[in-house]
Amino acid sequence: MTPFAIGLGSNLGDSLAIVRGAVRALDQAGQRGGSRVRAMSRVYRSPPVGGVEQPAFLNAVAILEWGDAPESLLATLHSVERSHGRDRASESIRWGPRVLDLDILLAGEDGSISCVAQHLTIPHPRAFDRAFVLKPLADVAPTWRHPATGERVDLALSRVADDARLVVPIAEGLAAPCRGTMVCAGDSARDVDGRDGRDGPSAGGGSPGA
Ligand code: ADP
Ligand code: MG
Repeated sequence: MTPFAIGLGSNLGDSLAIVRGAVRALDQAGQRGGSRVRAMSRVYRSPPVGGVEQPAFLNAVAILEWGDAPESLLATLHSVERSHGRDRASESIRWGPRVLDLDILLAGEDGSISCVAQHLTIPHPRAFDRAFVLKPLADVAPTWRHPATGERVDLALSRVADDARLVVPIAEGLAAPCRGTMVCAGDSARDVDGRDGRDGPSAGGGSPGA
């Protein structure tokens, strides 16, 4: 089994339920191969990047144990995106609004695995530049490193500290690794402010997937 850090983002529909549902779906997909979601970060509300005016995004990161090739994991992520209503064919704007974006951020113990294939690059090329990725990633994998630069996730987060101040937690995740039957984030998580957070002071922004 290889651990993968999966970035989740959503800014259309009931994003909190969608993010939690996606973590549940990843856990179920993992279970078919004898693996599990090991941990899930808090859910964050994030301001926009990329210059497209759109609703705020909710972002989180899950650590999934996966026993098959990275390409099969990417296919599974796309299938989970589709099952939550994402239709890539109808998307005309890069980094525009989406019901669910799932990205492979890092792979291997401590992030040690690299992959450059036609449709898959690991680490995700923009992961270490983006506060909305690094902040949830630091919840669950603070000591993982970029395999090329050696930079640790927690130190990368301090490098983007100004942006990170705008990435605010709005719901709890799974602080401890999952063991046995997963108590899913959707069942156990308590909203910090009881809402999905998109009506707060930062409403109007959002961050797509990495
Ligand atoms: P983005 O995630 O960059 O906002 P998309 O979700 O539309 O945009 O992804 C575009 C393509 O990026 C996917 O079809 C996939 O083949 C490719 N890709 C390359 N590396 C990765 C990765 N590490 N995780 C997810 N997708 C990736
Ligand atoms: Mg994506």
